Amino acid sequence: MKDFGTLVFGYAEMEAYLPENVYQKFLKIKNDEELLDKETADTIAKAMKEWAISKGATHYTHWFQPLTGSTAEKHDAFLDKKDDKAIMRFTGKSLIKGEPDASSFPSGGLRSTFEARGYTYWDYTSFVFIRDSVLCIPSVFVSYHGESLDKKGPLLKSCKVIDKKATELLHILGYEDVSKVTPMVGLEQEYFLVDRPLYKRRMDLMLTGRTLFGHAAPKGQEFDDHYFGAISSRVQSFMKDVNEELWKLGIYAKTEHNEVAPMQFELAPLFSDVNIAVDQNQLIMDILKRIAYKHGYACLLHEKPFDSINGSGKHNNYSLVSDTGINVFDVGKSDDEHLRFLLFTAAFIKGVDTYPELLRLSAANPGNDFRLGLNEAPPAIISVFLGDFVDEMIDSLDSEIKDAKKPESITPLIYVPKDATDRNRTSPVAFTGNKFEFRMLGSSASASFTNTVLNTLLSKELDEVITLLKGCDDIKKTAMDYIKDVFKKHERILFSKDGYSKEWVIEAKRRGLPNLSSSIETIATFDMSKNVSLLKDYGIFTDEEIKARKEVLISQYISSISLEVKTMLYMCESYIIPFMVKEISAYKAIETDSAFALKRKVKLTEYLDSLSLKLDDLREKYALITGEYSSLDEGLKFRSDIVPLLSDIKSVINDYEKIASKEIYTLPTYPEMLY
Ligand code: ADP
Ligand code: MG
Repeated sequence: MKDFGTLVFGYAEMEAYLPENVYQKFLKIKNDEELLDKETADTIAKAMKEWAISKGATHYTHWFQPLTGSTAEKHDAFLDKKDDKAIMRFTGKSLIKGEPDASSFPSGGLRSTFEARGYTYWDYTSFVFIRDSVLCIPSVFVSYHGESLDKKGPLLKSCKVIDKKATELLHILGYEDVSKVTPMVGLEQEYFLVDRPLYKRRMDLMLTGRTLFGHAAPKGQEFDDHYFGAISSRVQSFMKDVNEELWKLGIYAKTEHNEVAPMQFELAPLFSDVNIAVDQNQLIMDILKRIAYKHGYACLLHEKPFDSINGSGKHNNYSLVSDTGINVFDVGKSDDEHLRFLLFTAAFIKGVDTYPELLRLSAANPGNDFRLGLNEAPPAIISVFLGDFVDEMIDSLDSEIKDAKKPESITPLIYVPKDATDRNRTSPVAFTGNKFEFRMLGSSASASFTNTVLNTLLSKELDEVITLLKGCDDIKKTAMDYIKDVFKKHERILFSKDGYSKEWVIEAKRRGLPNLSSSIETIATFDMSKNVSLLKDYGIFTDEEIKARKEVLISQYISSISLEVKTMLYMCESYIIPFMVKEISAYKAIETDSAFALKRKVKLTEYLDSLSLKLDDLREKYALITGEYSSLDEGLKFRSDIVPLLSDIKSVINDYEKIASKEIYTLPTYPEMLY
């Protein structure tokens, strides 16, 4: 633990390396109380450079989160020349602003090539850190005209909005000493480990992140024996290295345990300010991959690397905490605290019921299509679980509400908790004591947009509450009326039974809740007028930015499925078909009257022909659909025509694999990769 935070330029380092007055000024700048001036920036840059060099750093980079989903950086050396002498230089200007050659990052047409410049600006609300001798400066990424081209910019904007609204509402409720409210987030990260030599022999895993086919292992997860089971010593030594690396970066990696599926694990750091939590999650994903490499593993972050066993998600635990220590989702003890809790919770519920498409969109990526609604993750339907305690609290408010509640007791919907505590693991948005846990995110996703959406939809509802309460005669009564009204009108979003059941899908439809089962259908809802109004009204996106982001998402969807098509064709041509031919020839070569051998030969020939027909079909459909321009129509066709075909092809290969000779079928199989 002595190395904790040694690679972060945190408060203690700032205090040590900065003159006292500059340190105090920086704290004010960070709190939006003062603006950053050139002199202060120069002093901070110099201090950072000294600290970084003392840690062995030679380069610096603006570290940002473009729309690709990963992070980007371009290294510059501190080294410079002055009067023919080598010096180490790092100025305030280089700290504040960078100009990466950015023409290859997705922008959805916001940055046409003739105006290819993009700029990165230092985000001083996150911490500068060192990785591999490079000083990394968390930054936002914008176009020449100031449109945001990354995931951090919109999140920061939404944090400012929610801070303002939540603070204002707390003032109205009598908490006048509050001066700042911060979204706090804890992100649980699931992942798989696979032996690297095996991984390298599976082109599909390497290129697409998932196995495009593979017959289930004789033993799956039916015994639930992996969950919280003993961690093998090899994995343990991997986790130890991961933790050490994370601790150095000041990340409080706390829990780690086996997940439900074989070779699946989870890592959860302590919650923190959302901006930092999202940055740190990007680092965590990166470090998991790198340390896995060192230990002879490949770390898989894809949402569904293996069929027939659970996929991986990322849980986003969200709360709002004031600088005076109030968590607005804390139920509290006194009547006033209960009222505060119910007011914020009602606003949250109303927001979720008003913008479910946007929240669903924040979890939309092609990998997650294999997970949501498949009895291992929440369905694609957004609903909220409050738990008995809060339910009773609401019921006790007013008998009217109780009467208005729809009967939920349709028998097959009964939820039996897997653990003793009052928890519903099948709900996409679950209240868990003092926070809301959004469980829909895929494991590979950035949590940035989810929190941008949560902040923004809540800001809009808080705004309404503020208008209601401002200048009203009886704050308590008006607040209670609002709460009752919300729970009556938005009852449909509350659901506490089994979210995995088929019955819920039917029930949700009856309630009129959207069920966007694929990411491409969800992307189509991005620019629904209510979404556009919300995002524009609160200054998160402009019309152009929404259009651009939608375009980027569509083209990412298409690229991802295209890659699967190409990989499938390649693997079939280079491996599967030759395996089948070889196996058929082997049976042909033996002179025997054995009925079994004859039957087997026929079966294998059937598989071969069926596969080759399906591959022809795939080639044909793929050629028909793909155009030069990635449109929504094209994306929807990929979903309706190509995705099912890929799945059909998978079934044929899996059937073949079941009877294939291990001598001939040399690709690593599920049992080999998972045990
Ligand atoms: P589970 O697996 O039961 O969902 P974990 O303990 O693995 O729960 O993870 C819970 C996550 O929620 C952790 O990252 C934790 O730091 C975070 N968390 C706890 N309290 C809060 C809070 N008030 N606001 C945001 N996140 C929180
Ligand atoms: Mg969880």
